[in-house]
Amino acid sequence: MTGIPQHFLGLLFLLVGPPGVGKNSLMKAVLARSGHQIRQLPTATTRPIRPGEKQGREHLFVTRDEFETMIARDALLEHQVVHGHLYGIPRMTVEGAMGAGEDLIADIEVFGATYTRSCYPNNTILIFIKPPALDVLRTRMQARGEPPEEIEKRLCRVEMEMQYAPLCDYLITNDDINQAADQLHAIILSAYSRRDLEKLRMQRHLPRHRQTAVVTVIPVYNDEVLQLQGDSRFPTGSVTDGRLVVDAARSALVDNLGIEVDRANLRYASWSTSPATLPEAMDSLPPEFFQHTTLYYFYPLSHRITPPGWEWVPVTQATLPEGFRETLVAFHQQL
Ligand code: 5GP
Repeated sequence: MTGIPQHFLGLLFLLVGPPGVGKNSLMKAVLARSGHQIRQLPTATTRPIRPGEKQGREHLFVTRDEFETMIARDALLEHQVVHGHLYGIPRMTVEGAMGAGEDLIADIEVFGATYTRSCYPNNTILIFIKPPALDVLRTRMQARGEPPEEIEKRLCRVEMEMQYAPLCDYLITNDDINQAADQLHAIILSAYSRRDLEKLRMQRHLPRHRQTAVVTVIPVYNDEVLQLQGDSRFPTGSVTDGRLVVDAARSALVDNLGIEVDRANLRYASWSTSPATLPEAMDSLPPEFFQHTTLYYFYPLSHRITPPGWEWVPVTQATLPEGFRETLVAFHQQL
């Protein structure tokens, strides 16, 4: 992981939302307005180039072998399969731009986008684009002549994706493309204005962080979880700039429990189809000055070891973030 200096100020605007909602058109519209101030982040993909696209502008078009080499070299920040093709964010493009104070915009599916923000919480801005009504997407797909089963399948995914809207920083309803583009442009300008203030603060040596994040890892063995004796706390560590959340999660276990940790075990390759090592849950407290976020992972232990000061309690009696118990039970049943 490349270290990122504290002063990097480049911003990464990520458009998130269901397919067909018009993210790409919105991105094109603001790129046309913003001149050279912002450029599209070309993500790597195995999908074939389309007419009108340029190698390295919309995407870095690569073969599957090339993509796999990028994964093996850890050159991708994250990657996902979208509509049957592989897509991933080249780490160096993002970190290079942030370090140079350059701004990027991209249309990224929700898992990749939330993961990216967890890596660069001070520089990433997530903008959720929603349709005025789900029926609009249905009508658009029907007009394109898509088969009814395919439409229903996609609409189910849309509902799932809509659940991620509250995790984003801004919400735009794309009813009228011009109005939506105005709104997006305004969001970008407001981020620039905030950055100007950051620069002032930095000149006066005032602290930059308005956001803090910690990662909490819940160690699991069968149907029990390991927590501090007489307390409902789990191993926790801080997430700092330039450090991958998954590395912070690993340290939280090593530092608190003094155990060997296999980073791959935080990935759940068999449990989740995501290779991005996403946290299982996220809590965010936005008081006036600081936004404090807790990212939760769980870590299945192969032995029931009990480090001094810690105790095992049944999952049913532990205080867990919302939805986490169900995740653990489902995971347990899968074993
Ligand atoms: P397209 O092939 O139309 O350019 O992109 C298809 C979809 O892939 C986009 O709508 C976007 O949500 C997603 N996508 C593009 N690049 C990336 C990437 O690097 N990572 C992830 N996770 N999704 C991407």
